[in-house]
Amino acid sequence: MTTANILEDERPTLAEDGLTLSVVIPVYNEHESLPMICKRITEVLAAGPAPYRDSYEILLVDDGSRDGSFEVAQKLHAADERIRVVQFRRNFGKTAALQAGFTLCRGARVVTIDADMQEDPVDMFRLFEKLDAGYDLVSAWRIKRNDPLSKTLPSRIFNGVVSRMTGVHLHDFNCGFKAYNGDVVREIQLYGDLHRFIPVLAHQQGFKVTEVSVEHQPRRYGKSKFGARRLGRGYIDFIQVLFLTSYLNRPLRLFGTIGTLLMLVGGAICAYLSILWLQGFRPIGDRPLLTLGVLLLITGLQFFSTGLVGEMLRHNTYRTGDEFSIRRMLR
Ligand code: UDP
Ligand code: MG
Repeated sequence: MTTANILEDERPTLAEDGLTLSVVIPVYNEHESLPMICKRITEVLAAGPAPYRDSYEILLVDDGSRDGSFEVAQKLHAADERIRVVQFRRNFGKTAALQAGFTLCRGARVVTIDADMQEDPVDMFRLFEKLDAGYDLVSAWRIKRNDPLSKTLPSRIFNGVVSRMTGVHLHDFNCGFKAYNGDVVREIQLYGDLHRFIPVLAHQQGFKVTEVSVEHQPRRYGKSKFGARRLGRGYIDFIQVLFLTSYLNRPLRLFGTIGTLLMLVGGAICAYLSILWLQGFRPIGDRPLLTLGVLLLITGLQFFSTGLVGEMLRHNTYRTGDEFSIRRMLR
């Protein structure tokens, strides 16, 4: 498929009143960059292929900026009705901003890009080539990142670990520049800080994920919103993602298995001590092994019941639509 016939795409992405492309930009205190990124996107699309040029929107999600970004966005909207603006009441975070954009955008294809001009929007057409080839999510890979070492080094470790443990082999999960088949953004559900794991969540739903290398510029205006502090949280978030993508649907498998193993070991220890005691060999009340055995039994039981509670929650919050992901239907 080429970009020219995207409108004939059989995938059920294009709503009746839909657009070909939505560009979603999360904005938090970016008043200097905002006019420039919008200008660049408009420019690039005006020179681009017809389906995009004639039918797109730029959706700015102002995530509670306090530097006048909204007023800047308001002016941009007044000058060009294709620029739409959503303003949050306060700062909810990048994940929330993206999710709002995903919920409100109308494009058959969606591009997300950061407001800071570190990536060049013109590269979106290279990302689209992969969508044309049948991929559902194309992530930009900043081969030569122009960020301080305090960002690039943790990021490198993060990417290595996530790639190895999830089987989604990207070099750069957390780049804000990505292109999506609209189905992806309408299906995934983001909360917390899950935006770093969008490719993992999409892959889990059966979407095809790939990457394309792009150039990366240093940040010229404003400040980076994410420091090294996110590293500690990133680790917890990763455990969350591993859990969400593997055991969310079957909590008892995880908790029940751990619980059973602990109880087996604890039970064996207690049985051994009971036999000693019954045979009247020696007193067992002061043996550390007794404490260990009892501890293992109790924690095992706790794990097991956590699994059962998990199953109960799962049962009561069941929604048919969450149980599968449909690529297409022939009717
Ligand atoms: N951002 C946001 N809400 C936040 C933090 C950041 O919408 O709470 C936006 C920010 O305006 C930018 C993008 O997310 O468009 C990425 O932020 P930044 O460039 O600071 O991240 P970095 O590239 O330094 O990791
Ligand atoms: Mg940036």
